Amino acid sequence: MNIILLGPPGAGKGTQAQRLVERHGMRQLSTGDMLRAAVKAGTPVGLQAKAVMERGELVSDEIVSALIGEELDSLGPDAGAIFDGYPRTAAQAESLDAILADRGRKLDHVIELGVDEDALVDRITGRFTCASCGKGYHDRFEQPREPGVCDRCGGTEFKRRPDDNEETVRTRMAEYRAKTAPILPIYDARGIVARVNGMAAMDDVTAAIEKIVAA
Ligand code: ADP
Ligand code: ADP
Ligand code: ZN
Repeated sequence: MNIILLGPPGAGKGTQAQRLVERHGMRQLSTGDMLRAAVKAGTPVGLQAKAVMERGELVSDEIVSALIGEELDSLGPDAGAIFDGYPRTAAQAESLDAILADRGRKLDHVIELGVDEDALVDRITGRFTCASCGKGYHDRFEQPREPGVCDRCGGTEFKRRPDDNEETVRTRMAEYRAKTAPILPIYDARGIVARVNGMAAMDDVTAAIEKIVAA
């Protein structure tokens, strides 16, 4: 199975992708995570992407599509793929079609997480993750069960993203509206879009996604 999770920054893509990984053993392909790893490692791609990401603008289509192709090749042919944060432009959507076709894969679902923009700044500015395993948390909406200790791995170090500030989030939302939302009609025309209310409680969003994946 190959699915895209689509939605603006803070919609819950990463949260729901992690849950699909845990429940179904699918693999999460997050271009944001791949780019952050490249920045951290100081690779040529990372050097190019760093300032763009700090501004909240989109990294070039060529870079992210190359990353997705490589990552997909590291999956077994039977492993399901969750595309989280990719595609974000019409050119990327086109590349993804070719990338999947080349590997004998087909897109099963595009799950759009619908959210109120007003809620997104709160979600983003309260977001943090476990530094060891990457599990996502939120200052108010999802704290570790034991304060300061990761539920999943017991890690005690957490981190916040430099681009998770209000100003950058506004740019990221504008990029989503201008370049990413317009790709939905491409998938609508194929009849593979499912819309989920991303404002619902996390578990309810998960239940709605489970229904789509099981159908
Ligand atoms: P995205 O990957 O789409 O940018 P995340 O999954 O990282 O979004 O979610 C952003 C923040 O909002 C995280 O801190 C997460 O814990 C929190 N969050 C995710 N889904 C919900 C929800 N349904 N209700 C409240 N908070 C949520
Ligand atoms: P979020 O979880 O908030 O939606 P991501 O982690 O997916 O954010 O992306 C963080 C940043 O990485 C983006 O603001 C952008 O600069 C870059 N990025 C990630 N994925 C893509 C992509 N598919 N195309 C272009 N830029 C991307
Ligand atoms: Zn952890």
